[in-house]
Amino acid sequence: MTDSICVGCGICCDGTLFRHLPIAPGDKREVLEAAGSVIATIGTGPMMVLGCGAFDGQCCTIYADRPTVCGTFTCALYRRHAAGEVTTEDAKVAIAETIALRDTVRPAVEEFLDLATPSTNLVVLFDRLADAFARAPDPDAAKQANHKLLLYVSGLQLRLRTMFRNDSPAPE
Ligand code: SF4
Ligand code: SF4
Repeated sequence: MTDSICVGCGICCDGTLFRHLPIAPGDKREVLEAAGSVIATIGTGPMMVLGCGAFDGQCCTIYADRPTVCGTFTCALYRRHAAGEVTTEDAKVAIAETIALRDTVRPAVEEFLDLATPSTNLVVLFDRLADAFARAPDPDAAKQANHKLLLYVSGLQLRLRTMFRNDSPAPE
């Protein structure tokens, strides 16, 4: 999370856009853990599992002590806004529409999966959804029967990929 249009967004922090983010040597793990974040060894090094405990729904509550990657990451929308290609108003509308779509899609996916413990990470939820269809006795029939849900999921994934993801150093 960086600033201006980021306040009230946080989709790069809350598990909407990424699964986890890398913790660099010197990052203040104890501050993150005190905020409720989970840090685990994933792949070759320590990662913070997203959603981040330091995101309060509006802002980063440990801004001065945030991990290195948080200070350098900018999403595609942020960059386009900074370059003057997107107005602040349009960026905020794009963020609000994305959050509204996410908040419609996520409970629908959770209900479909019938999860005892909902995951706060949307990327993980989408993986579980894909697994559920792959394991269905007749995957095509299952997809057809749930085409509305899949349409909403695809729309959100497309929106996240085209509006927010980019090739800057980023979480995964
Ligand atoms: S997703 Fe982009 S606009 Fe939203 S908080 Fe992250 S950097 Fe800011
Ligand atoms: S530390 Fe702050 S900027 Fe980094 S993921 Fe958490 S809330 Fe976002």
